[in-house]
Amino acid sequence: MLDVVIVGGGVSGLYAAYLLQQKGLKVQVIEGSARLGGRLQTIYTPEGHPVDLGGQWIAPQHTRLLNWIKVHRIPIHPTYTTGANLLITRNRRRRYHGSIPRLSALALLDLGWGLARLKRMARHVSPQSPWQISRPAWDEISLATWMRKQFYTKEARKTFAVGLSTVLGCEPEEVSLWHTLFYIQSAGSLEVLIQTQGGAQEMKFSQGAQTLVETLSSQVSWVIDEPVRRIIWERRRVQVYTTKHHYDARVVLLAIPPALTGHIGFEPPLPPSYSQLAQHMPMGSVTKVVALYDKPFWREEGLSGHILRLEGGVRVTFDTSPADGSYGQITGFGVGPNARSLLRLSPEERQAYYEAELHSLFGVRPQRLYYKVWAEEPLIGGCYAGYFTPGGWRYFGESMRRSLPPLYWCGTERSSTWAGYIEGAMAAAEQATEDLLQVI
Ligand SMILES: Cc1cc2nc3c(=O)[nH]c(=O)nc-3n(C[C@H](O)[C@H](O)[C@H](O)COP(=O)(O)OP(=O)(O)OC[C@H]3O[C@@H](n4cnc5c(N)ncnc54)[C@H](O)[C@@H]3O)c2cc1C
Repeated sequence: MLDVVIVGGGVSGLYAAYLLQQKGLKVQVIEGSARLGGRLQTIYTPEGHPVDLGGQWIAPQHTRLLNWIKVHRIPIHPTYTTGANLLITRNRRRRYHGSIPRLSALALLDLGWGLARLKRMARHVSPQSPWQISRPAWDEISLATWMRKQFYTKEARKTFAVGLSTVLGCEPEEVSLWHTLFYIQSAGSLEVLIQTQGGAQEMKFSQGAQTLVETLSSQVSWVIDEPVRRIIWERRRVQVYTTKHHYDARVVLLAIPPALTGHIGFEPPLPPSYSQLAQHMPMGSVTKVVALYDKPFWREEGLSGHILRLEGGVRVTFDTSPADGSYGQITGFGVGPNARSLLRLSPEERQAYYEAELHSLFGVRPQRLYYKVWAEEPLIGGCYAGYFTPGGWRYFGESMRRSLPPLYWCGTERSSTWAGYIEGAMAAAEQATEDLLQVI
């Protein structure tokens, strides 16, 4: 019999397996899809250039991740930020520096006031116990409802919506205001979420995030292509059934997004606050687009490659070229109603749309263009992460963090720090393995 079966071969599951193996436990990771890594996925162009279709950036605050990177000598480099950023509105292109775009004086004041207020409000959320709602009204409304009351100018509201939807991975009308505040607090501040230098986009994996997945997976025992369908749980034993095999263990650690728990049959059934969590935490819906060019030509025009656009499908871009600038790479995010409506199109139509978008943004047709709609990954269901709709934290938040021995949970959504990020996936693994080691 195994000590621990871990369901899910993303960062959280693989890191938890590593930590438990270090303690001498017999652990098996079971991944349902044909590859490890989950929301980290690197593909390679015919020239051998890495393209990250999932997570790729590292913040200086990501201490667990940076420690792993250092120990395993994974190459990383700073994101290129020299030069001017661009704000593109319906009829103008304006250059700006820093993280706040150049809006009209009134809109700028409006935006600054709104951001300051959101920052102050976030201090009311405890990332350790966000289900303790000190301001109930904030958990009863969406972020969009708050924005409607907060912003006087359309320009400030639109700019805020593009920024926040790119950070959260969902639209303001979908997510609870309280969850937005939790997300900010779990990262430490709104600035670190938005900023490239000093924040969430500061560094990237030079050879792709796959290098992280490889260093994790080379140290643990795993299988792929075995979706877990059924778990029979008793006080001191679990039986985990995949489409191919069955595994006996003392405990099971589910390292999957909460929304995916609903795909597994539990016997006996989970208590309602656990089973319904899956219905109340949908996954975000962002399309990631990566364009490659023979050189980062925008740098010659004094541009950083960072664009904020208030209309269209691709609304935010970053320069993700290699450290030596030997070729150009732009990463963009498809958010907002246009990007959402594209989900109905065929892959070829979407490809043509995104090629045209990048062409219109940079004035040059990309040599290669890749995109990924994460909502189409059946065992992930969207990106970047799960989020709570109004009332979610109040009714299901505690169940999300509390184990149900012999069932334990991890995954980035369950972290109190950097939830939604690689760092959060590692922190949640640490927390779950500490809990589990107390009883096993
Ligand atoms: C486009 C995109 C951009 C991002 N950018 C960044 C970034 O720049 N920086 C950053 O820090 N984070 C970023 N993130 C978020 C980051 O990738 C995730 O937070 C992190 O990878 C989540 O890891 P996880 O192990 O918690 O979950 P996952 O990676 O989702 O792993 C869960 C695994 O469980 C498997 N699974 C699900 N159900 C079953 C089942 N029944 N049986 C067996 N296996 C199952 C899934 O296939 C998956 O492999 C991004 C994510 C995306 C998608």
